[in-house]
Amino acid sequence: MTNEQNKSSSPRNVHRGMAISPGIVVAPAYRVETVSPLAPSTAGPFEVADELSRFEAACHKAAADLTDLIERVSSEIGAEESRIFQSHLFMVRDRAFIQKVTGLIAEHHISAEDAVNRTQAEYEQIFSAIDDDYLRERWDDLLDVVERLRQHLVESAPVESVRSDQSVVLVAREILPSQTLRLGERHIVGVVTERGSRTSHAAIIARSLGLPVVGGIPDIFNAVRNGDMIAVDGRDGIVIVNPGPEAESAYRKLEREFVDLKDKLIHNRHEPSVTSNGVAIELAANINNVADAKAAADVGATAIGLFRTEYLFMMHPSIPTEDEQTASYRAIVDAAPKGHVTIRTLDLGGDKILPYFPIEKESNPFLGFRSIRRALAHPEFFKHQVRAILRAGIEGRVRILLPMISTVEEIEIAREFIAQAKDELAREGLPFSSDVPLGIMVEVPSAAVAIDTLLDAVDFVSIGTNDLVQYLMAADRDNPNVAYLCDPLSPAVLRVLYQVIQACRKYEVDVAVCGEMAGRPRSAVALLAFGLRSLSMGPAFVPLIKELVHSLSTNRLIGLVDEILSQKKALGIHQILNSVLSEIDASIARLDAGPADPSSI
Ligand code: PEP
Ligand code: MG
Repeated sequence: MTNEQNKSSSPRNVHRGMAISPGIVVAPAYRVETVSPLAPSTAGPFEVADELSRFEAACHKAAADLTDLIERVSSEIGAEESRIFQSHLFMVRDRAFIQKVTGLIAEHHISAEDAVNRTQAEYEQIFSAIDDDYLRERWDDLLDVVERLRQHLVESAPVESVRSDQSVVLVAREILPSQTLRLGERHIVGVVTERGSRTSHAAIIARSLGLPVVGGIPDIFNAVRNGDMIAVDGRDGIVIVNPGPEAESAYRKLEREFVDLKDKLIHNRHEPSVTSNGVAIELAANINNVADAKAAADVGATAIGLFRTEYLFMMHPSIPTEDEQTASYRAIVDAAPKGHVTIRTLDLGGDKILPYFPIEKESNPFLGFRSIRRALAHPEFFKHQVRAILRAGIEGRVRILLPMISTVEEIEIAREFIAQAKDELAREGLPFSSDVPLGIMVEVPSAAVAIDTLLDAVDFVSIGTNDLVQYLMAADRDNPNVAYLCDPLSPAVLRVLYQVIQACRKYEVDVAVCGEMAGRPRSAVALLAFGLRSLSMGPAFVPLIKELVHSLSTNRLIGLVDEILSQKKALGIHQILNSVLSEIDASIARLDAGPADPSSI
């Protein structure tokens, strides 16, 4: 960006949040007060019988809406996403909730609206006292249900209806899951929210709709007026309000390039992924559900490199049974390119919690009893999942991936449980694949530093740079205040990555990177220079990285290794890689502005 452009985007207009769903868009803002303010108390007293029957009718109508919605979502998006609304249906029929509302009507002779409002206020107090991000996010689901009931009671139009026939960026304090679902039907081309995280249902659905989304910007709602021009960069989590003519045109150009490039690149889906000097590079996809697996096949990914099974569990109203898991894994294998799927066992804890599986409070949850640590301590849970994966394994080429491995002992214990699961399946006469490779995520510094002590015990390695970076830099990956430290192109991170990749190559163990950096051009160049030959990324990035691979020569990249590793600052590394990209294709270079160097957009 030129100095002039910098001036027009004064820092007060530039808001940094969480990059929730990638893409770039510039459009006028449309503010939505997501939840209608509680209606003022209506006068009374009211006839109890009338109000009870109005409430009952509203519940029936809400349940009918939700039943339709479940059917539509399950056929248009996927069975897993539809479970969100299944859980809303449970809430609408929840006995405790219904008794609370009807009890208030009967006791105080108030209107049904008032009783719903009072119940909401009471629940809000309970939820605001919960110190758990995931459970607090379930508040959104409850609000969604209450809002639906209220609309039926007052027979009003949905609050979220966007009447504009112009493309708009929706700006809201928060977005409810059912609203996110309706975004695709309207002229909404991007979303900016005050709240929101990567694990929220809204984020999951927005990503599968391909809308750019930035969340976690405090006070953005009040900082924006309807009609303000707003630039949303969902790759870097940047929002610029009224960017000024020059920055606006720079972002519009980026937006067009992004769209053109996506259109152009998608044509490479049937082309092999090989460098200009003929070296094959695997471009696999990271997925959360069947719809993503289909998207991966459509864009030409060669495999599913990471299936995050937490989402299957999160979308389910209770722990999915072994048979339900087997069916879900089979559906993924069926949809996956060539049936190749690497299934990661449950990576719970930290920010990923199941509402029906309470976890005791810890002072450092990201460093606590989470992921594989918890799985190995609850082998029943782990073994059911492993059994389901082995059963689904007869259909395609399935691999098991263990998250958060810190020591070789953990791998040995996991192997023992897997062996037991195979024995049980054989005894029970259930068909399964006995040939399912076992791999580990390298995302804890101890595993990276002592990688040579682990390689004998595994069939493959997948480097989870999202976590590896946060643990190496001691900087929470979801905390916007320390985002400047979470740069995978910082010297410390790259040195560790180089060491892990080299060790895997020396011991001839397959190695991939499945963190977000794999789908970003600059960091992909560094990884390929380090000798990596397999990258796994969000399906949307596969065509872009394939284009990049086509234009690179590994001979040229080898010369970069020393130059990169001798840098003392991340900025120097960004500059080296950016100039490599600019030499190849300026549009690819401009599509990768990293957080360490936003001024280069
Ligand atoms: C990672 O940590 O890099 C990774 C791919 O896993 P997740 O983002 O699910 O933690
Ligand atoms: Mg991880």
